[in-house]
Amino acid sequence: MTGPTRRSVLTGVASAAGALALPRAGLAAAPQAQGPGVYRYRLGAFELTALYDGTWFLPIDGTLIRNASGAAVNKELATNFQPPNILPITITALLVNTGKQRVLIDTGSAGQLADTAGYLNANLAAAGLTPADIDIILISHFHPDHIDGIRTKDGNKVFPNAQILVPEPEWTFWMDDANQSRAKGSVLRYFRNARRIFADIAKDVQRFRPGAEVVPGIVSLPAYGHTPGHTAFAVHSGRESILVMSDTVRNPELFARHPDWQPIFDMDGALAVRTRRRMLDRAAADRMLVEAYHFPFPAVGHMVRRGAGYELVPSMWRPL
Ligand SMILES: [Zn+2]
Repeated sequence: MTGPTRRSVLTGVASAAGALALPRAGLAAAPQAQGPGVYRYRLGAFELTALYDGTWFLPIDGTLIRNASGAAVNKELATNFQPPNILPITITALLVNTGKQRVLIDTGSAGQLADTAGYLNANLAAAGLTPADIDIILISHFHPDHIDGIRTKDGNKVFPNAQILVPEPEWTFWMDDANQSRAKGSVLRYFRNARRIFADIAKDVQRFRPGAEVVPGIVSLPAYGHTPGHTAFAVHSGRESILVMSDTVRNPELFARHPDWQPIFDMDGALAVRTRRRMLDRAAADRMLVEAYHFPFPAVGHMVRRGAGYELVPSMWRPL
């Protein structure tokens, strides 16, 4: 027999791994971080930077999807080589440098959801910027993983020079005392958190009507359902565009493949499905570049129709 047998290959791999284990053992006392979670790409004359905040590994059970079983969810996770009963929620904020302004779309979790997330500012530093360099913060909706980065855990403002723009219907819903008095469980926590973030800076927060151009080159798009005022964005420069889908589509292996699935995160499940289908359909038909806050880093690619759903084709990593 010529060449290695299957057994010798496996043994060889094992001994190679064993050899590699020796130097690693010496380094074990110092945790080895990944490289920075920063990815830059161009859109016309704009420079876009994906800033990784981290991943929240959320334990889930059969109640995650209102209209699908836990077994169906675990089957799709397994298709993507993910362990069962854990939803990996990656968080990536998008920084848009228009040449005139630096616009940060959503702000990360500030480490308040899990200790495996909260690295947005470290990655901003790796991108050569500080929070003081951000001119505008554009908020898609008021869930904690999108607004917590506005303040530190101690309540200090993180972005000293940024004007904060939020969707009007989102503000109206979450800052309404009557709505809060009817809320329970996690939704009640979101109400309290929105007040923690915004209450004493209300006069500095500018509200916009979804549909409006909020910054030259950035148009807000009503994408209601996930929350009452949930908003997506279309960024245009020259002849190029990107559709920033926010939380319209979360994990692509679940919600692009199954646009009709209604996760408990979507406050109005049926409306969220219509919004998701409309946006995925437009993205696929127009072959648009898309970005989404919970797509795997760097959270950018294209959507193609496949079967009854859609599939994410991630952008190929490339230097500027
Ligand atoms: Zn989110």
